[in-house]
Amino acid sequence: MKALQFSPDRGLVLRERPIPPLQPGGLLVRVMAAAICGSDLRILRREKEAAPGVILGHEVAGVVEEVSPSAAGYSPGEAVAIFPSIFCKTCLYCRRGLTNLCKNKRSIGYLLDGGFAQYMAVPPEMVEEGAVLKLTGQAPWTSRALIEPLACVLHSIVVVGPGEEFFILGGGPMGLMHLLVLLKRGAKTVFLGERNPQRGSMAQKLGGNKVLVFNPLEKGLKDFLGEERVDGVFFCARAMELMEEGLAILRKGGTMNLFAGYPRDTRVRLNPNLLHYGERCLTGSHSTTLSLFERAAAVV
Ligand SMILES: [Zn+2]
Ligand SMILES: [Zn+2]
Repeated sequence: MKALQFSPDRGLVLRERPIPPLQPGGLLVRVMAAAICGSDLRILRREKEAAPGVILGHEVAGVVEEVSPSAAGYSPGEAVAIFPSIFCKTCLYCRRGLTNLCKNKRSIGYLLDGGFAQYMAVPPEMVEEGAVLKLTGQAPWTSRALIEPLACVLHSIVVVGPGEEFFILGGGPMGLMHLLVLLKRGAKTVFLGERNPQRGSMAQKLGGNKVLVFNPLEKGLKDFLGEERVDGVFFCARAMELMEEGLAILRKGGTMNLFAGYPRDTRVRLNPNLLHYGERCLTGSHSTTLSLFERAAAVV
C-alpha cells in the first residue's frame, strides 16, 4: 500500500509499505478519507513531536476491511470514523474525566500509524475504548473525515460557554466550523477577523447577515468592535500581538480561548487587570473527548 510517513530529515515521504497485519482484537480499515490538520503541518515544521517513520494523519474515516475474531461487534464493509487517541484511564486527568489532557495519551498520526495510507490497522485498545465509531447516513467521506476536527470545535465551544455575540480570529476551516456551530446554537452575531478576502466571503456565505467580517490588520479589534462587546473570543489563528485586544473586546466574565497552538518559545505581554478587574478568563482548548466525537459524528 502507499503511505505518507514522517521523516525527521526529509519531512513527508511517500513509501510503498506492506498492508499492516491485523492484530488480535483489532481491525483493519481501508481508509476512504483522511484530512490534513494544522498539527500535521506543525509536525513538518518541527513545532510538534511525532515518531520518526510514523504514518501521519489522525482525522480518518474508512471501511472495515478485516475483523479479528475477538473484536466483537464489527463486520467487514461497515463505515467507521476513528477517534484518534488511546487514553491510559489511570492518570489524574483520566480519573477526573479530562481524558483529552491524559498524560500518557497515545494517538494515531503521532506515535501510532495513522490514516495517510491506503489501510490502517486499528489496535485492540482502540476497539475496546470505543474509538471506532460506526457511521450511518449518506455523508460523503470527506465530511466524515472532519468528525474529529468538528469534535475539537465542540470542545472549544464548551470551554468558552454560552453567549450571544462572539469573535473568531481566523476564517480557515476551523474558524468556519466554529462559526457554523455558534450560529446553530443561536448566536445573534459572530464577528470574524480574517485578512483573506476569499475566506471572508465564504464566511459571509455561511453566516449571512449574522456574520460581520473585517480585516484585523487594517482595522484593530477594538476599533471595529469597541471594548466589552462579545461574550466569547476564539483564536483560531496565531496572532500573539492581538491577544490583549482580544481580551479587551471581551465582556466582563467572558472567556477567550486559544484554539490554535503556538511555537514552543512563544511569549506574550498582557495587561493583567483585564483579567483581575473584569474577571475575564484566558484559556486554551486541546483536542476533544470521545463523547464529543460521538456528538460530532451524529452531526455529520
Ligand atoms: Zn487535528
Ligand atoms: Zn490518562
